[in-house]
Amino acid sequence: MEQTYVMVKPDGVQRGLVGEVISRIEKRGLKIVALRMNVIAEATAKEHYGEHAARPFFPSLIEFITSGPSVSMVVAGKDAIKVMRAINGATNPVDAAPGTIRGDFALDVGRNVVHASDSPEAAAREIAIHFKDSEIANYSRVDEVCLYE
Ligand code: ADP
Repeated sequence: MEQTYVMVKPDGVQRGLVGEVISRIEKRGLKIVALRMNVIAEATAKEHYGEHAARPFFPSLIEFITSGPSVSMVVAGKDAIKVMRAINGATNPVDAAPGTIRGDFALDVGRNVVHASDSPEAAAREIAIHFKDSEIANYSRVDEVCLYE
């Protein structure tokens, strides 16, 4: 089973969309194996978004992502990285298809509600930034017998 890192960003928390996001993840069949709400520290945010350090939007991205509580998760399941990116929709909500989180709930690229890792390397890196191994649970969903061939 693949694991990915998912965040409900401060805009999603402040708009009361945490349950909506979690519900979509769970209904799809993906399994939440770690979950926390916290205000992400500036150094952690800079590490998380390090690949964008030279981009003009980096300072405002870091300011926003550390501006209030966000919800961090590790989500597991078959092709969890690809499936979570599809659930979230395109980075710019203007391009996100209806039925995706961003396509249903967002308009501005800097307020796009959610994050999910975009590759196996990013998932491993981001999970390690936000969670200790001991915080990741190991359990079965009772419907796994129906979800998987
Ligand atoms: P994703 O979150 O879909 O993986 P990126 O890694 O490309 O997208 O960008 C990280 C985050 O930076 C985006 O989710 C978005 O909030 C913000 N961002 C990306 N591009 C821009 C931009 N041109 N202007 C403002 N914010 C941006």
